[in-house]
Amino acid sequence: MNELEDVRASAYPLVDADFAASLVLDHTPVLGAERVPLVDAPGRVLVEDVVASTSLPAFPSSAVDGYAFRAADGGESLRVVGESAAGQPFDHRVEPGTAIRILTGGVLPAGADCVVMMEDVQLSGDVVAVPAGLKPGQNFHAPGADLRAGERVLRAGVQLGSAEIGLAAALGLAELPVGRRPRVALLSTGDELVEVGKTPGRGQIPDSNRWALLAALREAGAEVRLLGIGPDEPEALKRLVVDALAAADVLVTSGGVSVGTHDLIKPLLESLGDVHVGRVKLKPGKPFTFATLPHQKLAFGLPGFPVSSLVTFEVFVRPALRKMQGHAQLQRPTLPVRLGYDARATADRTEYQRVTLRRDVGELVASTTGSQSSSRLMSLAGAHALVRIPPGDQGISKGTIVEAMILSLP
Ligand code: AMP
Ligand code: MG
Repeated sequence: MNELEDVRASAYPLVDADFAASLVLDHTPVLGAERVPLVDAPGRVLVEDVVASTSLPAFPSSAVDGYAFRAADGGESLRVVGESAAGQPFDHRVEPGTAIRILTGGVLPAGADCVVMMEDVQLSGDVVAVPAGLKPGQNFHAPGADLRAGERVLRAGVQLGSAEIGLAAALGLAELPVGRRPRVALLSTGDELVEVGKTPGRGQIPDSNRWALLAALREAGAEVRLLGIGPDEPEALKRLVVDALAAADVLVTSGGVSVGTHDLIKPLLESLGDVHVGRVKLKPGKPFTFATLPHQKLAFGLPGFPVSSLVTFEVFVRPALRKMQGHAQLQRPTLPVRLGYDARATADRTEYQRVTLRRDVGELVASTTGSQSSSRLMSLAGAHALVRIPPGDQGISKGTIVEAMILSLP
């Protein structure tokens, strides 16, 4: 071993990236549930199936503005005996030879079995001439046409978006059971860091990871407490972290995990719990560190390089945060894409290369975002996907179809 290797040696074995990812999930608890009013439901994860207690529509409901009558009276002139507007039903029977005016959403009264559109009748006084040829059931929604009582309408594990929330509201549910959001304490480490907005001195850089990771954490559903830039003194750092963990489920740090720098994070996590992963066969992100702490809390020590911190977040942290909330879908979706460039492999590490996608006659073609340096956030900004290049000396040649982890589609 030469001097350089000696300095960079680590006590932690290099763990396979997929193995590390499944190990993280194995140690990740599902947090409890809580009931939230619909106003707080957007983006939350449903943790129980929703079964319809009523059919929808609950009553026969007119689809158009027009006249309700018996289809058997088609082609006749009918006496208009009343009106059924939305929310104001007509409470009598529609007898043979009569019709009522009906508005969209109005209840189809007993006796009537079809509705004709306003445009298709001739009205004179209180007599309406309706066309022949309408069939029973036309132009209204029968009870249960949209969904039936007893039907499962939402599955546990879905993220609540507009349609899901609308459906729950239509069924009269004012609250929904959702997974608790993970509370995450976020810490940046490094003597070179200054608050964003302050002018960096010589050798200093803005603490950009804090804001990048805050955005990533929020997108993943976490409630974030910002701890700022950690002190470089081990005891003070430990006090800060222990204090924050009292009210957090997860600790996420950036920086201070690579060998040969002023690495405080690994010894800190060793002193607080069990470090399961200290290095991974992943590029970028080799120094990624994962520990479990007492009371089922988790700690993720992300590398300091901006791209490394965000890629390891994608691969390890995001799925864990989703599992905590009860998500059925932990991973990003994948799609087959055609590589538009020759991808070189790294001998001993799986590489997640950042690409943009474009559509080309029915397929997606991936172009590299340029230099894949772990300090170069420009490789990730605007990237549509991460393409996984397995370790080895082969690489993947241009034109090959690969599975891409989709971040957004063009
Ligand atoms: P480290 O993992 O602490 O060795 O840091 C690796 C590289 O990432 C160094 O160039 C750091 O300056 C940079 N870095 C560490 N923390 C941050 C941060 N919070 N924001 C931006 N860059 C960082
Ligand atoms: Mg550092």
